[in-house]
Amino acid sequence: MRSYDEAIERILAQVPEERTLETVPPEQASGRPLGFDVFASVDLPPFDNSAVDGFALNLTASDRRPPGVAFPITRTISAGDPPGSPLAGNEAARILTGAPVPPGCDTIVMVEDTETSPDGSSVLLRDAGSARYIRRKGSDVRQSAPGEVPLLPVGTPLRPGAIGLLAALGRTEVALFARPKIALFSTGDELVPAGTVFLPPGKIRDSNGPALAAAVAEAGGVVTIRQPIADSPEATRTAFDTAADCDLILTSGGVSVGDRDFVKAVAEERGTLVFWRVAIRPGKPLAFGRIGKSLFFGLPGNPVSSLVTFELFVRPVIRRWLGFRDLFRPQVPAVLTADLPHEPGRREFVRATVSWDGGICRATPTGAQGSHRLSTLIDADAFLIAHEDHGDYAAGSELPAMLLL
Ligand code: AMP
Ligand code: MG
Repeated sequence: MRSYDEAIERILAQVPEERTLETVPPEQASGRPLGFDVFASVDLPPFDNSAVDGFALNLTASDRRPPGVAFPITRTISAGDPPGSPLAGNEAARILTGAPVPPGCDTIVMVEDTETSPDGSSVLLRDAGSARYIRRKGSDVRQSAPGEVPLLPVGTPLRPGAIGLLAALGRTEVALFARPKIALFSTGDELVPAGTVFLPPGKIRDSNGPALAAAVAEAGGVVTIRQPIADSPEATRTAFDTAADCDLILTSGGVSVGDRDFVKAVAEERGTLVFWRVAIRPGKPLAFGRIGKSLFFGLPGNPVSSLVTFELFVRPVIRRWLGFRDLFRPQVPAVLTADLPHEPGRREFVRATVSWDGGICRATPTGAQGSHRLSTLIDADAFLIAHEDHGDYAAGSELPAMLLL
């Protein structure tokens, strides 16, 4: 059986290097990584401007030296005004935050350090002022020179700050890697649609379909086909054929060793299996391969197993597809609050809740870890990673927690 490490390596190696780009306005790109390098087309700020509300002075040309002197107020420069004519030595221009500093201005005194005469014609400066209150052109971002490293290299996730920068640079469109198109098939003769009110005897509602659709959306993929399919080779073949256009085909169920598990056999018939079964718990029966141009994941049917294998193997693929440099969740060392039974042989991903206590991460498993128990995922904000070479863990032991926050 493949180890977790080997399985993820083989899966990621199958993500194509060449992927389609799409062009969208920056605001619609929130959270997604850039598909191209962005260079600074201009300096930011585009002109010297005031960092405060105050008075602009040209002390180089003046014979007065604040503090303790008065200057005539000759004009007001507001944000959005042009910078106006050069500042003379013995004038003070009232200047507001963000307003362009007039030519010759070398000092700004904050309004809090001044006193204006009752008629508003002059100002007494109680402080020497400073050039620090002048925000210099290019002090945030310098216009890129040829051959320089990009301001925002390909793969940079577009957080709000980056989206603001793109707007400030005048970019109305950015190129992103297109979201992977995903087909989602729940398999099982026992399944009825989630909206079914009265359950016929022996039937259960399809919970993997909605759960995996939510997981795909959260990871950044697009579900383009979602369908339940019966446990038959014909239904499975038809499903795979309708999904020929998709980047990823995900099935849940039907990949074990039961008499009515056809997914793996049909996947082999229609494409190739790269592997079946991984030494993990939950999720051992995972199958992975290619069908035509699509990557194929045969996720196990048990509700927890399908979501855990999605998290461990499919989410990183979607993230690589989207161009993220970070594919995996962060891990921190966590201290167990209770004993944790663990059989060696498989790497176990234990659903747990974490809390921080004086900088120490403490983790509590969310109950008996049966792979049918969706309820163990409600409060789980981490998977504790119990190693395949380790036995039971005692309360107080430290093990890595993969944070799902
Ligand atoms: P299988 O691998 O197909 O034998 O499925 C394993 C277990 O998961 C069985 O108890 C199935 O009833 C259950 N299961 C499979 N698919 C789904 C689904 N879409 N929703 C809820 N339970 C499922
Ligand atoms: Mg089944």
